[in-house]
Amino acid sequence: MARRAPGPTPRHFAVIDPATGEAFEEAPDQRPEELDAIVERARLAWAGWRADPDARADALRAAADAVETAEDVLARLLSREQGKPLTESGAEIARTAARLRYFAGLTHPRNRPIRDDRPMRSEVRWRSIGPVAAIVPWNFPLQLAAAKFAPALAAGNTMVLKPSPFTPLATRLLGSVLAAALPRDVLRVVTGREPLGARLASHPCIRHVTFTGSVATGRSVAASTAGSLTRVTLELGGNDAAVLLDDVDVDRIADQLFWAAFRNCGQVCMAVKRVYAPTRLYAKVVEALAQRASTVTVGPGSEPGTQLGPVNNAPQLARVEDLVGQALAAGARAAAGGQRLQRPGYFFAPTILTDVPPDSPVVTDEQFGPVLPVLPYRTLDEAVEAANGTRFGLGGSVWGTDLDRAEAVAERLECGTAWINHHAELSLAQPFAGIKDSGLGVAGGPWGLYGNLRPFVVHRPCDRPPAEEAPR
Ligand code: NAD
Repeated sequence: MARRAPGPTPRHFAVIDPATGEAFEEAPDQRPEELDAIVERARLAWAGWRADPDARADALRAAADAVETAEDVLARLLSREQGKPLTESGAEIARTAARLRYFAGLTHPRNRPIRDDRPMRSEVRWRSIGPVAAIVPWNFPLQLAAAKFAPALAAGNTMVLKPSPFTPLATRLLGSVLAAALPRDVLRVVTGREPLGARLASHPCIRHVTFTGSVATGRSVAASTAGSLTRVTLELGGNDAAVLLDDVDVDRIADQLFWAAFRNCGQVCMAVKRVYAPTRLYAKVVEALAQRASTVTVGPGSEPGTQLGPVNNAPQLARVEDLVGQALAAGARAAAGGQRLQRPGYFFAPTILTDVPPDSPVVTDEQFGPVLPVLPYRTLDEAVEAANGTRFGLGGSVWGTDLDRAEAVAERLECGTAWINHHAELSLAQPFAGIKDSGLGVAGGPWGLYGNLRPFVVHRPCDRPPAEEAPR
């Protein structure tokens, strides 16, 4: 345990290493009452931060450099508290820096003239909105935080960021790394247990709440913002289907498909969470995935050579165990795995489920763990209907040799992003928006920036209409 400073003891809570199930560190358990002063400092810092877009761009680039310089120490802490392999932690930190650099290039939102037939020069100018609250989950603590602070800060807002109590430490460290590059109070990290998040979401001086997490908490956050009519963006759960076409080359795609489901131990909002395979190829697909599930190297994320770490926390492990138990009791078969590993920590054997009743919760709900149900289909219409048949709509993918045919099937998926022959690869420049229970609002690319701005329109009389704006 870290040694605390002398003086009155603030409250702390334990942080667990998921590879051992033991506490290894503590984090401050900040009280909701502390938020008033923190949000007020963010509000005061806003005036200076919003004033100079060039200075903002420079600061965000310096912040990206600082993150890269600290990669090693950040990656080790992230793997320790989150459980993911060190290589994945390194990739997460690289994406955090890349996101800062991308949004550093967008600090000058273009004014937009409005063209109509009135003798008026009208122009939309974009204004920042004030202190933004970001609330993020434990699966990609740094990268998801960056997806929130990079566009919000580029827009000229300040931010109070609350990580999950399961992964507070790497985010606190990131906060101190960024503090060296950013003006004081532009970004503040707060850690603590509920009701800290609920109080932050309902704080009257917060002007935008951007939340990533589960559907249930997302609904609660939306309700928290209703009182103050605060803007809210929700990035919620997913249950992405991968539809394999009858011309798919199973041997060729098996590795990629496996990792699209099992990366970060399946704890990815847009992981492949269900596979639909044509009956003719069903046995071959199951065998290929089961072979990989039974041979992958499972171990502590901090150990070199680990490919798959533990589940991040005890409640999530219990949920995965329960979903698999229910499916097995309903007649499913585990072609690989199927149970917890007999070792300390929150390890669950990488699991491939076959013969799963399509109405099992492991198919209809989000498992968010190292478990993949594979379901057979007879006709393509049946597969598309099943893929679209849940309350989620985050992503989906189609796998086959004829790319035009695969794209025609992908067009039929009801979700925010569809991939062909891969899954879950995002561009920093693309919009990211789930439909149905998967989210509300748009993040990513310029859309993510505008989600953190408000339009301000000026009309003045003129003789000539305004010049055409160059396309962005
Ligand atoms: P969660 O909803 O339990 O918690 C998310 C965050 O909300 C945490 O910081 C938590 O402390 C906080 N929180 C809890 N109760 C709150 C309340 N009443 N008010 C305000 N904040 C509150 O989610 P989780 O278990 O940490 O993360 C897993 C979920 O996140 C999965 O459903 C996953 O699909 C989803 N997710 C979505 C995306 C996306 O971009 N769509 C990305 C990653 C994860």
